[in-house]
Amino acid sequence: MKQAIQSFYRGLFDLVYPPECPYCEKPIIGSSSGQISSEFCESCKEIIKPDVTERCSICDAPSGPHSNTESGCYHCNRNRDRFQFEKVKSLGVYADEIKSICLRAKEPSGRPVASAALNLLWETWEPEISQIKYDLVLPVPFHWSDRFWRSHCSPGTIAKALARKLKTKYSFRVLSKVKITAKQSSLPVSRRRSNVRDAFRVKNVPAVHGKSILLVDDIMTTGSTVNEISRCLKKAGAKHVSIVVLARALKGARSFVGE
Ligand SMILES: [Zn+2]
Ligand SMILES: [Zn+2]
Repeated sequence: MKQAIQSFYRGLFDLVYPPECPYCEKPIIGSSSGQISSEFCESCKEIIKPDVTERCSICDAPSGPHSNTESGCYHCNRNRDRFQFEKVKSLGVYADEIKSICLRAKEPSGRPVASAALNLLWETWEPEISQIKYDLVLPVPFHWSDRFWRSHCSPGTIAKALARKLKTKYSFRVLSKVKITAKQSSLPVSRRRSNVRDAFRVKNVPAVHGKSILLVDDIMTTGSTVNEISRCLKKAGAKHVSIVVLARALKGARSFVGE
């Protein structure tokens, strides 16, 4: 009875003050709870439209129709031998609306946009992501000096929301960034790998030993950052590492800015 009353008042509140879409900030009629929704409105979803055309089965870059990408594609072939993770899943290519969402998700007030983007990614790719039974979801960590001034870190927000979807454990204490690095986006490809070399540490080895790990970041370009962390996780005994990112930025494209 108490629940029914609470639900009635929540419904009434949402009718008077409907939650806003975190992207266009227009009210979402018929949605519930809170001032900012953790879902995009239908019009925004229509504009954002995740790119579900054919993609590389390893790095998730768009591939040509009917291409066989079981052993990689043009975008990842040169790196394939050094990839320590099995595969990548993303909402789409880092361009247009998806680029704008990633930039908004990084802002101090970007938590609802990051959560809504993850919800859309989940709606699109749930069957593929759920194929593997993951034991642990981990965000790409920030150095403490970077984290200190932030109200939220988008990889952490996305990872936490994804762990909830997967009903899997999440932790931001397992990995740490032990070295201050130059921003990957400011470096040429040739220096990105060495920039993040030995920058990360697995603080809790028993937590990852023999486990399947889902590593989460906001943007991936060459994959140097997630690959270096995957290398550490594998060294600590992780059985399987896969990657989820909001956007896959492509080397040489106008959107070439990621990690
Ligand atoms: Zn909207
Ligand atoms: Zn590829």
